[in-house]
Amino acid sequence: MNAATAQVLAAYWRTRYGPGARARTRTELEAYQARAVERHLRRLLPRSPFYRAHFAGRAWAAAPPINKRVMLAHFDELNTAGVCFSEALALAERAEATRDFAPTLPGGLTVGLSSGTSGTRSLFLVSPAERAAWAGAALARVLPGGRLAAQRVAFFLRANSNLYRSVRSRLIRFAYFDLLDPLPAHVARLNAYQPTILVGPPSLLALLASEARAGRLTIGPRKVVSVAEVLDPLDAAAIAAQFGGPVHQVYQATEGFLGATCDHGTLHLNEDLLVVQTDWLDERTGKFAPILTDFHRQTQPILRYRLDDVLTLKPTACPCGSPRRALETIEGRCDDIFYFPAASGRGWVCLFPDFIRRAILSGAGPLLEGYTATQTDPGHVEIALALPAAARADAEAAIRAALAALCARTGAVKPRLAFSAGGLPELSPRKFKRVARHMPAPDSA
Ligand SMILES: [Zn+2]
Repeated sequence: MNAATAQVLAAYWRTRYGPGARARTRTELEAYQARAVERHLRRLLPRSPFYRAHFAGRAWAAAPPINKRVMLAHFDELNTAGVCFSEALALAERAEATRDFAPTLPGGLTVGLSSGTSGTRSLFLVSPAERAAWAGAALARVLPGGRLAAQRVAFFLRANSNLYRSVRSRLIRFAYFDLLDPLPAHVARLNAYQPTILVGPPSLLALLASEARAGRLTIGPRKVVSVAEVLDPLDAAAIAAQFGGPVHQVYQATEGFLGATCDHGTLHLNEDLLVVQTDWLDERTGKFAPILTDFHRQTQPILRYRLDDVLTLKPTACPCGSPRRALETIEGRCDDIFYFPAASGRGWVCLFPDFIRRAILSGAGPLLEGYTATQTDPGHVEIALALPAAARADAEAAIRAALAALCARTGAVKPRLAFSAGGLPELSPRKFKRVARHMPAPDSA
C-alpha cells in the first residue's frame, strides 16, 4: 500500500468511525466541532499572516466573514505554502488549456480553478494529504452503506483534476470521463465499463437517462450521484425513473466537501468535517448562505468563508438520526436570485430560484421534458420549454398565472414573459443552469 492509499483509508476510517461520526446529538457534535476548530487554529494561525491578523483579539466564530474577493486579494499571505497568486494561476490556466492536469506546484500542490459565473474565478491550493483526506471522506459518504466493497465508479468531470486521482484500490475501480467528449463516446465507454456507481452533473445524467430510454445505453448502476450543478426536481425524477431512485447528491465545491446524501436520500451537511454557520437570506423559509470553517484544510485555510450559495434547511428530521443538519435543496448561486421592482414603487422584491422553479413545474405539467428561465432585465424573463407542440399554449397560460400569483403574493411587479422552445440540457464546457439571472443585482436590494 502506498502512502496516498494509506492516507485515503485513514480519512475513510475517520469519517466512518472517528469522533465526529460518533457524535449522536447536536450538543456532542457542536462540542466536537469547537475542540476541532481550536486545535486547528493553534496549528494554523502562526503560518497564515492574513488569518492571524483577521482573528486577532476576537473569538473565531464572530470574526467578519470573508468571501472569494477577499481571499483572492490576500492569496499570498493567506495560504500557508508560500505560493504566490500569479504562479498558481499560470499553472491552472496552462492545465486547462492543454487538458494536461498532471503538473503540480512544488510539494505536489494541486491548483484548482473554480468556474466563477460572475467574472472572478477562484484559485484553490490542495496538498497531497488534503487530496487523500477528501477522497477518503467522499468514499465514506458515497459508497452504498459507506462500505468498501467491489465497485466500478464512473466519474464525469468538467475539468479533470489531480484531486480525484488519489483513489486507487484493489476493490474500487475509477474511470474518468471528460465532459467535453461527445455523448456517443460516453455511451460506448459506459456500455463496456458497466459502472456500479455513476457520478456526474445532473445535466449529463439526464442526457444519459434519455440515451438509456432510447435503448442505446445499457447500464444498471446501483447508485447514481449528482454533483457540480443544481439538481432540479424535473431532472431528478427523469434520472430516478430510468436508473432507479433516489438520485443521490454530493455537495462539493473547490471550497470544500460540504455535504452528501445519507442512505435515506437526505442531503446532510458534512458538519463532522467543517462548521457551517448560517447567513440568513430568509429565515422564515430556512434559506441561507453558508459560512464555512473547515477544520482540516491547512494549505489554503477556509475559515469564516461565506459561500455565495442559496441553501434551504429541511424542516423535518431525517429517519437516519444523524445530528448533521439536513438540506431541503441546494438552490444555486445568490447570483441567480431574481429581482423584480416592488409593486409599492420603493425597492425590490427578491424571488429565490426555487420559487421560479416551482411556478414553472406546476404550470407546465407532466409532459415537460426540460426548461430554462432567465431574467435578462428587471421587467423581463425568458422561458424556454421542451414540450409537445399541442401542450404549449395551455402550459404557457398556466405558467403566466403561477408567476403572476407569486408576484402578487410577494408584492412584486409582474415581469413580461417571453416563451420559446428549448430548455434541454446539452454537453457544454459551462455548467448547465435551469434558473439564471443575466443582469446585475440592484444595489438597493
Ligand atoms: Zn439522513
